Amino acid sequence: MDGQTKRRYDAYLKNYSIGKVLGIGSFSKVRVAVHTITGQKVAIKILNRKKIKNLGMEETVKREMKILRIFMHLWHPHIIRLYEIIETPSEICVVMEYVKNGELFDYIVEKGRVDENQARRFFQQIISGVECCHKNMVSHRDLKPENLLLDLKYNVKLADFGLSNIMRDGHFLRTSCGSPNYAAPEVIANKLYAGPEVDVWGCGIILYALLCGFLPFDDENISNLYKKIKGGIYTLPNHLSVGAKDIIPRMLIVDPMKRISISEICRHPWFRAFLPRYLALSQIDSIHKIRKIDKDCLLEVVNMGFHRDQLVESLMNKMQNQGTVAYYLLLDNRCHSPGAYLEAEFTETKKQHGASVSSTSHMPTRYMDQQGVGVIKYSLGLKFRAFPRDIIMKVLKVLQDLNIGWKKIGDYNMKCRWFPFHQRTLINVNVNIGTEMNAVENDPHAKSSPVVKFELQLYKTTDERYLLDIQKLTGPHVLFLDLCADLITKLHP
Ligand code: ADP
Ligand code: MG
Repeated sequence: MDGQTKRRYDAYLKNYSIGKVLGIGSFSKVRVAVHTITGQKVAIKILNRKKIKNLGMEETVKREMKILRIFMHLWHPHIIRLYEIIETPSEICVVMEYVKNGELFDYIVEKGRVDENQARRFFQQIISGVECCHKNMVSHRDLKPENLLLDLKYNVKLADFGLSNIMRDGHFLRTSCGSPNYAAPEVIANKLYAGPEVDVWGCGIILYALLCGFLPFDDENISNLYKKIKGGIYTLPNHLSVGAKDIIPRMLIVDPMKRISISEICRHPWFRAFLPRYLALSQIDSIHKIRKIDKDCLLEVVNMGFHRDQLVESLMNKMQNQGTVAYYLLLDNRCHSPGAYLEAEFTETKKQHGASVSSTSHMPTRYMDQQGVGVIKYSLGLKFRAFPRDIIMKVLKVLQDLNIGWKKIGDYNMKCRWFPFHQRTLINVNVNIGTEMNAVENDPHAKSSPVVKFELQLYKTTDERYLLDIQKLTGPHVLFLDLCADLITKLHP
């Protein structure tokens, strides 16, 4: 870094000590940096305004900034976290989460091809990140292994929203984008497209590259390459498993209307095998929603010299300033460390698959309760091999035996209430899946006695196994554990 650049950084990026270059793009440089107030490591993408203008990329950059502002308020374990955007007369600096293990691209190059289970694990994480983008009306449009980064624990993080676009209902895009090898046929044919189907194509290419170690469509001659893409001409190597041979061609269907959708991918048996719990339950979005102010982090930032009330107000109003940046950097690196979160989940998944049919597992996950206090959420899993409907019937019978009230939320999902010190007999409760709420709802004594509220969710782990997940919502831990013990005994006599 020359002296002039350093002085510029010192002036505009006062809170950061700038380090080495991590990556260089056509009009940007990504550098590692330390947020001096909190001591946390970050990556800063520095976009040069002059270069942007010379390349006529102002609109692209404006769009990227708009999208980044959407993502600034989002927390997803497989999307790079963004902390702040600092605009100077000569540069735009995007401060984001720093990930250590580089690009998925280099990982594939080093490994040649990736073992199926590892490829599936990456793929599940990518799809979950892409699904989250789509839910927030953003299509990435430049999905490729160079834009998928790996953290310390080799978890994927979607990065580089430079070519992303905000999707609007009924609004079709026609901007050509991405690298030719990854571009969908409708993009190179300059046809109108909605957005998500282009990402599905990109994910198909990535999955192919992971499992094969080379790209499905490749040619030194660009017009030949385009011919292959538009014709959907590629080969599937024999070493691929039956499941992989089924899902890849569905993603690489030339006609975007016939191409598999993200939600169909999520239901595909190959995708669902060894699917970690946190991805199966699509809890990730709610993690973002239930993020309430963490008292410890708040206190720490206040101790750094920030005004408490102002900080709280900024956090509530989703404003960005020095205090909120410090707060989120601390929070992410502590309470909500995606690494730690995923570690627990992934360990549990590995355990589930090696364990016997009726094993149980405890899995405390850190999260925030409604009052904004960091608590441990107890989850208890019970495994079954029966048909899901039969399992639910059995569960409902046991709930009835234990005088537990329930409310159906989905076909395999119930909210339950238990008044431990209030024994009463239930009459006329029909045990069937359609029952809305049993008699506890109308109980006049309900308000005065302690209550344990919990949620039951049945989900599929592999093709023939189902896991009943029990999660406490409110109430004393000890009583909840008592209740779990009763449930386990009755469900597995
Ligand atoms: P470009 O638009 O130039 O492709 P990217 O956002 O893709 O910019 O970043 C370029 C490269 O910089 C990435 O491919 C990666 O190697 C590195 N990089 C980007 N963001 C990060 C990050 N958050 N942590 C670590 N490395 C990063
Ligand atoms: Mg990139």
